[in-house]
Amino acid sequence: MRKPIMAGNWKMNKTRDEALQFIYAVNEAIPSIEQVETVVFAPAIILRDLVKRQGDNLRIGAQTCHYLENGAFTGEISPVMIKAVGASYCLVGHSERREYYNETDKDVALKVAALINNGITPILCIGETLEARETGKTEEVLRNQLHIDLENVSIADLEEVVIAYEPIWAIGTGKTASPEIAEETCKFIREYIAQSYNKKVADGIRILYGGSVKPSNVNNFIKEPDIDGCLVGGASLDPASFIELCNACK
Ligand code: PEP
Repeated sequence: MRKPIMAGNWKMNKTRDEALQFIYAVNEAIPSIEQVETVVFAPAIILRDLVKRQGDNLRIGAQTCHYLENGAFTGEISPVMIKAVGASYCLVGHSERREYYNETDKDVALKVAALINNGITPILCIGETLEARETGKTEEVLRNQLHIDLENVSIADLEEVVIAYEPIWAIGTGKTASPEIAEETCKFIREYIAQSYNKKVADGIRILYGGSVKPSNVNNFIKEPDIDGCLVGGASLDPASFIELCNACK
């Protein structure tokens, strides 16, 4: 049995006060950690404030990191720093990072390895453009991303990785993949892991769907056999909406 994950990606939203109000509103209302792994990915500047106030069932994550421990990289944060503040997850390779900050698959591969080495769970985001989907290149794109992004991860460590399938055309657009397309693609990812590593690892790895998920459509995705939860942007900002999303995963 794979434990479901509900992950909220706040992106560049919420001041410290707004974030604390959110935490206080959801801490007692979300399902127990035994049932659902619930994570919010918050701006780095407030990670420590959230970690200090997180309830027993909530986990806090960073939205990106550098792959080195320290150095002359103005504006960056390292996995060591994320760990030191008590956050336990980090997004890697989100399409917005790939598009606006030129994050390459080689960078992503180094980040995934650095996070694992520091005991932080990476949520590795992969996904195709609309053009790739429409020209039948989705599987090729995903295969290439997975091949490079996971190249520094051993079979033993792969169990620590969570994969989020996020079609770029569905992120922040209000346009979701159909549950059939989401399931078919998550299944393809699981089969790729089975072929490239082994079936046991593939059966255990968690694969999330992300792209305009909200309380009114979340059930369509999480009922699918190869979808183990969701990564949610816009609909994770409101506490009531986030609580509904988490409860749907029970
Ligand atoms: C995301 O940021 O990963 C995301 C899926 O955003 P949204 O839910 O707003 O499409």
